[in-house]
Amino acid sequence: MKSASNRIKIMWIFIALSLAGAAFLLFSIITQGGTWATSTRNSHLYINGTLIGAGNITDADGEILCATADGKRTFHEDSEVRSSLLHVVGDNHGFISSSVQNQYRTNLSGYNRIMGVWELSNFEQGSEVNLTLKAKACKTAYEALDGRKGAVCVYNYKTGQMLVSVSTPTYDPENVPENVNDSEYYDGVYINRVTMGLYPPGSTFKVITAAAAIDNVKGIDSKDFYCDGAYHTSYGDVKCMSEHGSLKMKEALAKSCNSAFAEIANDVGASKLQKTAENFGYNQKITLGKLGVYTSEIKTVKDDPLELGWAGIGQSTTLVTPLEQMRIMGAIAGDGVPIEPYLVQKVTTAAGFVNETGSAKKGARAVSPETAAQLKSLLRNNFEAQYGDWHFNEGLNPCGKSGTAETDPNKTPHAWFAGFLDNEEYPYAFAVIVEEGGSGSEVALPVAAQVVNALTDK
Ligand SMILES: [Zn+2]
Repeated sequence: MKSASNRIKIMWIFIALSLAGAAFLLFSIITQGGTWATSTRNSHLYINGTLIGAGNITDADGEILCATADGKRTFHEDSEVRSSLLHVVGDNHGFISSSVQNQYRTNLSGYNRIMGVWELSNFEQGSEVNLTLKAKACKTAYEALDGRKGAVCVYNYKTGQMLVSVSTPTYDPENVPENVNDSEYYDGVYINRVTMGLYPPGSTFKVITAAAAIDNVKGIDSKDFYCDGAYHTSYGDVKCMSEHGSLKMKEALAKSCNSAFAEIANDVGASKLQKTAENFGYNQKITLGKLGVYTSEIKTVKDDPLELGWAGIGQSTTLVTPLEQMRIMGAIAGDGVPIEPYLVQKVTTAAGFVNETGSAKKGARAVSPETAAQLKSLLRNNFEAQYGDWHFNEGLNPCGKSGTAETDPNKTPHAWFAGFLDNEEYPYAFAVIVEEGGSGSEVALPVAAQVVNALTDK
């Protein structure tokens, strides 16, 4: 009896093990099948490392950005459109790893968990990935950057749709330059600077400092500041670009006075300043579909008046991506709650089934609706008092803040501009950086205006 019961036990162990094995195999097929089907080693889909038979990548207007023809992946007919969209659409060599072509290859190849590569074998075509981007406006952004390194992004802050995402330096994926790997001009060419470029925010950070002050310092609107060319502390000075004399916060933001904002940061205090920045998305994971996005960083600033003064004007250890700058503007425009940006509108199989659709998703609240309204009026005043609406098409009601971010005393600073349109028809938020461009309002703002005007031309 004893040996019989042992045999039964052993049999049960065998059955359990086989079931576990089968379950594991099934699990692997479900979770890894897509990876296997679209692996560059799978010759059904790849020839010499090129994704063949894959579906189209299209823009918001249905323009074909990438397609398969005669067993070859080809890109848009216009070389400037191809160059402007290299970092989002991708290439045929896998150099741009954080791209739609690479990150959505499972969809493009037509693989799905139930049918495997059935779609591809029956239709000789994978799924179409339709993007929210507007190819023509991306081309305008590429032209506006005019050979300089930098990034431009624009999104609809009500729907979340990314309209423009351009990073430079770039190249035409149909004509890869021979010196792409050893020329200074192409330095960092494989990086999408919109999502992975981390830069000091410079004076654009004064928007965060102002938000923290509105929420934490009573009577900040009516407080008098005096700028004699610097904010003085016992540890040293935070220098201003000018001697602004006496002014209030609203004027100090429009004139981008460092003395006033270094003082405001000290009125707020280190931990509250950091908390406000985090509420706006710093130190938080921001996503853009399956593309790689780096997290914008703010390190705990000590309650040292000099360090805190520099932090308040964005010249500390703080780093930000253009995507996050745009999202901050979207949060202010959206009454304190950002709509998360997205890039893929829908994925349609060759058989016509729509698998995946992008939609407006709310992020965590950054500030109260009242604070957002005050920030909006400050950013609108910047245009009325300082930059001038003339940069933009008529009636768009631009709001925004420039920044000139120092990185190295021997180099020209980076030029920033981040803003949004307070406009029902065109609810767009945007960010522009021109590396070593100089003045934000003189260099980055015209780039932003050129792109936004292209999107709003009637
Ligand atoms: Zn000043």
